[in-house]
Amino acid sequence: MQREGADKQNMQVSDFLCDFCGRAWNGTFPLIEGHEGSLICGNCLTVAYTHIVIQRDEARYAGATCTMCLEEREDPMWQSPVREEAFACRRCLRQGGTRLHKDPDWQWSKPEAPEGADTSDGDEED
Ligand SMILES: [Zn+2]
Ligand SMILES: [Zn+2]
Repeated sequence: MQREGADKQNMQVSDFLCDFCGRAWNGTFPLIEGHEGSLICGNCLTVAYTHIVIQRDEARYAGATCTMCLEEREDPMWQSPVREEAFACRRCLRQGGTRLHKDPDWQWSKPEAPEGADTSDGDEED
């Protein structure tokens, strides 16, 4: 998102904020864009990806709209612990993770599932 009251004719780096933690950009950490100027930083993406994609958190929020794609999704969603109105759906997290992983400008890697963890689809058993 953009900082409230930012001068659209003269945007500064710090006028771009992560929608999920509210952190202002300073050019030194990855920030990727969704629809309508929505933004997620590398830190939030790591946390969200770990919960939803790796650990398969099945959290669903009735009526919630994904901040990144602006769709009401039936996918599991990650809710920002800091900004409760911000959600990211599993599809956007997967896409965002793949995009940022491949981006040569940033040293960001997709979180990995722990060794031996079953990451296949289906119910997990002990
Ligand atoms: Zn963030
Ligand atoms: Zn989405």
